[in-house]
Amino acid sequence: IIIISACNYYLMEEFELEDIPGVGRITAKKLRAAGIRSPRFLTMLNPEELMEIADIDNPIKAARIIREAKRLYGIEMKPISAREFKEEYLKWDTISFNVKALDELTRGGISVKELVEFAGEFGSGKTQICHQLAVTAQLPPSKGGVAGSVVYIDTERTFSPGRIEKIAERFGLDNALNNIYLFRPTTVTDLEECVFKLYNLIEEKNVRLVIVDSIIALYRAQLKGMEWLARRQQRLNYVIDFLKRYAERFNLAVVYTNQVLQQLNLPHITMKLPAGGNIIAHAATHRFLLKYAKDDTRIITVFDSPRLPRNASVQFRITEQGLMDVE
Ligand code: ADP
Ligand code: MG
Repeated sequence: IIIISACNYYLMEEFELEDIPGVGRITAKKLRAAGIRSPRFLTMLNPEELMEIADIDNPIKAARIIREAKRLYGIEMKPISAREFKEEYLKWDTISFNVKALDELTRGGISVKELVEFAGEFGSGKTQICHQLAVTAQLPPSKGGVAGSVVYIDTERTFSPGRIEKIAERFGLDNALNNIYLFRPTTVTDLEECVFKLYNLIEEKNVRLVIVDSIIALYRAQLKGMEWLARRQQRLNYVIDFLKRYAERFNLAVVYTNQVLQQLNLPHITMKLPAGGNIIAHAATHRFLLKYAKDDTRIITVFDSPRLPRNASVQFRITEQGLMDVE
């Protein structure tokens, strides 16, 4: 079996925009004005996107800039054997929850290069999970983390510095807030802008986890009704696709939360399923569903995953110090 993989080039040497053949002072200025500081960013764009982002009106020129940027870094699509891939894959870092039950369910935590969705009703623990991971990602590998910083995109205005401090205290982590870069977009357009502009931050601050809490709220509130459905799904898809690119290119994990909708309404049976339709259904690598149990206990179930058994579930508690095992 042969699979295609882009090379891992995040350790490669750095170039200036002017090092790209065909990029002169004027084009470089345009690119910088659009927030593109490194030729490396260009290697993850399509010409159409570059035209839009950097106001370049010639598609041939846009394609050429991207091609030359890739050549600069020696990036080309080439196959690796599935065996090589397996070896690479086993080396992917994971971010532990530092909760035994959750680590067992997920086989070690959240893996870099993957997108993980947590869906559930209000109060089911989605935001608490995000807070916990925003702390544990910063821990050294010996403590289950990846010693990275975290981007937290808070579309629901529920990020709590106090919760972060409490959780960090438990893990003996100082200055946890300093390594979390917070965005609070208020519109879908804001969200798109902050996702597209993450590139420099990821590169400069060693970001290893990007959290979006939630991925769906702004779209549901702002692009309402059937007449906007297609557009809404398209824009949502684009943002998620960009997150996927970062995950792959920068060896980072992406976690986002999703709301649930009443889907099945038979007599005596109501079932709540994740929102967002087909786009969301296919976007994440692993999807989990959260539900209330007794008091501070919650149940988390594998909803969809390529390697975790469907419907496997465990319980955990939400406490003042963050997520904990049930005794
Ligand atoms: P959502 O799924 O809506 O994002 P949250 O992750 O915000 O839900 O979870 C809310 C739950 O977390 C509430 O039931 C609340 O009791 C619990 N919780 C929040 N803060 C604390 C705290 N400081 N101590 C204990 N439990 C808390
Ligand atoms: Mg929440």
